[in-house]
Amino acid sequence: MIYRVVISQECLDVLYTDISRYQPRETGGALMGEIQGGILTIRKCILGGPKAVREVAYFEADHPYVEMEIDLEYANSKGRHCYAGEWHSHPQRYPAPSPKDYQSFFTIAHGRDDTDPVFLIFGYVGLARPTMLEQGIAIYLDKQEQKFYKLPIVVK
Ligand SMILES: [Zn+2]
Repeated sequence: MIYRVVISQECLDVLYTDISRYQPRETGGALMGEIQGGILTIRKCILGGPKAVREVAYFEADHPYVEMEIDLEYANSKGRHCYAGEWHSHPQRYPAPSPKDYQSFFTIAHGRDDTDPVFLIFGYVGLARPTMLEQGIAIYLDKQEQKFYKLPIVVK
């Protein structure tokens, strides 16, 4: 069970830059980190890749690119940074997952035996560096309970 997400300012900056670059289109990618005592600490935000599909209300990652980046980070961190979930941006100020998002979170979460992934969404409308956390949400599927939870995000 994960009950809290910790993210570094450095990771938030990486996300902010990518979201600003592509808005008003969505962008996204994968998250890597460490889970300890129910806290997921995000250590690396992977971008969507050169062949990602970025549209106003649609994002699809360049999967071979993302997989390669995940393997690279896993190797470079000597197995400490593991796949931890996905992130994407939304054409909203305060994002809410769409029914399709929940469907895809469910499919992705059940496709991973190694972890319970966390899904971050950031609203790109009016997004600024200081409002990143206010405009972000973390959704988590507890696979045992078959229930979605919204987790608090803190910067550290
Ligand atoms: Zn979405």
